[in-house]
Amino acid sequence: MRIKKLPVIGIISAILIAISGCSEKKSVQSFFAMNTYMTFTIYGTESEELSGSLQKEIYKLERLWSVTDENSDVYKINNSEGRTVLVDEKTAQLIDFSLIMSEKTGGAFNPTIYPVLKAWGFTTGNNRIPTAEEISETLSRTGCGKIKTDGNSVTAEKGTMVDFGGAAKGYAGDIAVDYLKNKGVTSALLDIGGNIQAIGTKPDGSSWKIGLRSPFSDGIAGTIEITDKAVVTSGNYERFFIGEDGKKYGHIINPVTGYPVENDLASVTIIGKEGKVCDALSTALFVMGYEGAVDFYKETGGFDMILITEDEEIHITEGIADSFSTDGKDIFIIE
Ligand code: ADP
Ligand code: MG
Repeated sequence: MRIKKLPVIGIISAILIAISGCSEKKSVQSFFAMNTYMTFTIYGTESEELSGSLQKEIYKLERLWSVTDENSDVYKINNSEGRTVLVDEKTAQLIDFSLIMSEKTGGAFNPTIYPVLKAWGFTTGNNRIPTAEEISETLSRTGCGKIKTDGNSVTAEKGTMVDFGGAAKGYAGDIAVDYLKNKGVTSALLDIGGNIQAIGTKPDGSSWKIGLRSPFSDGIAGTIEITDKAVVTSGNYERFFIGEDGKKYGHIINPVTGYPVENDLASVTIIGKEGKVCDALSTALFVMGYEGAVDFYKETGGFDMILITEDEEIHITEGIADSFSTDGKDIFIIE
């Protein structure tokens, strides 16, 4: 008998092999990567091995996109002092994608917000309210026009810094989905730090039921049923700090003001085909606020969304009216 080597595991690790209703092998593995917990549920005879090799792929992406790892592509760009640097093809693609999403969202999605984010201490954990001068100085170093790509070469103006925290998990999710589909997987559910990406249906043909976390309690706000889709949520209720003024400051920054977003939205969930698009849009539409998000949806379409407002109302687009439910709470349809 061949002895299999167990995959590298993170802080929490659980491997469950179960025989499902239609005798399909199942693997559930949890690990810590990209500063968050991930759980891969994969069905199929090779599911355990695939999950292990997929984890290695994710660790590779983490090493490319970490803002703190001195060997990462992002670190290389952020310390390039205006020089052109060569990055991995996947990093170049992530940058190009982020620049496109920034343009599409009128700058609400801004991968160059990092100097501002740093001033607020979101990268170090030493959160603090920056002075007005610090905010205007760091804001002056942001702007997507300050970064250029040419194939795998990247040139960022001196002082410009990037951070793909708003879309990297979605991008990694798409890479993971492609990887598994290419290996013949037809049923899997990937939880990438709260970003959900589903391949196909459950083995019995039914849709995946995803609980949507409530921004106001530990419970869920509702349930959405999906097949072959991504569900990505942004909000300021998970990563935030309380300032000396007693106010709550979240990790999503309004690129116009340089302040953490504070508007009529508690969370934005985007449901669509691609994880990366859902991820970038969830961040951007959260910045836009209710009216801005609804206007954007009407102008562009191509996705569904769930907006939970600060006054605890749930507003959803028509496309998911039949697949979203709550336990008795009112649901408003966006028209
Ligand atoms: P989460 O990481 O909690 O799932 P998001 O996808 O919304 O949530 O990403 C938030 C992260 O995106 C922040 O931690 C930061 O790294 C980055 N970020 C903050 N503000 C912006 C912005 N306006 N545009 C793009 N990225 C942002
Ligand atoms: Mg996002």
